[in-house]
Amino acid sequence: MLDYQAPRDLLKDKVILVTGAGDGIGREAALTYAAHGATVVLLGRTSAKLEAVYDQIEAAGHPLPAIVPVDLKGATAAHYRGMAETFAQQFGRLDGVLFNAGLLGTLSPFEHIQEKEWDEVMQVNVKSEFLLTQALLPLIRQTAKEHGEASIVYTSSSVGRKGRAYWGTYAISKFAVEGMMEVLADELENTGVRVNSLNPGGTRTKMRASAFPAEDPQLLKTPADLMPLYLYLMGSDSRGKTGQTFVAQPK
Ligand code: NDP
Repeated sequence: MLDYQAPRDLLKDKVILVTGAGDGIGREAALTYAAHGATVVLLGRTSAKLEAVYDQIEAAGHPLPAIVPVDLKGATAAHYRGMAETFAQQFGRLDGVLFNAGLLGTLSPFEHIQEKEWDEVMQVNVKSEFLLTQALLPLIRQTAKEHGEASIVYTSSSVGRKGRAYWGTYAISKFAVEGMMEVLADELENTGVRVNSLNPGGTRTKMRASAFPAEDPQLLKTPADLMPLYLYLMGSDSRGKTGQTFVAQPK
């Protein structure tokens, strides 16, 4: 899928929310979606990083994005409902969501997993995605009804598809994300809303460096290398694909 070539106007007029848009893969996805015509909603916890992405999009002359600073660790269902109301008023549509923000937590033997950290990783990687999806669904469904389609993309991992020793809560959280994707895809069949998951594979970001400190990052794909798949899943060329697990870097 990395050889997919997106037309320049693939996402013209679409409104797309990207979580974790200030850094790593999410940052690159936000810049790429904007470059393909989307109005991007940049959600993340560090305002300065989101502002830097905003400035870059503005300087490139792409549609002006919106910034939503939120710490997914602390946000509640009420916050997400408020956010959904604001999007409905401000944009009147939501064509796509890339759930990308994620927390690695500490890699450790199962017996050493700390309850507090379990809760934090599950909150950021799973519960916030459940609550945000629930809050946004009415607007997403309405968009699919009015414009023929909408796309929800969850971010998984190799360890969310095959468990691996010491990957602890992170791996378990990604299995939960895959489950959420399948349940939702099945429920939304025939609504025009497609729901899929993708595994970026080892990618040159801060998260990867903290998981593999001894690895040479130059040997890894960059977030930019993965963008064909991120574009494919968000744009109309993936229409009809739902409930599927995608891999950005097939072996
Ligand atoms: P990074 O750590 O580089 O970026 C993660 C992003 O998520 C950052 O923008 C970060 O914000 C944001 N984030 C983390 N916690 C919160 C929070 N509590 N509230 C709001 N935003 C938050 O990770 P990657 O870009 O590497 O990873 C992106 C996704 O891809 C993740 O879901 C990850 O699990 C997955 N993945 C990555 C792989 C890789 O090799 N890189 C491999 C497989 C899966 P801030 O910058 O402000 O901290």
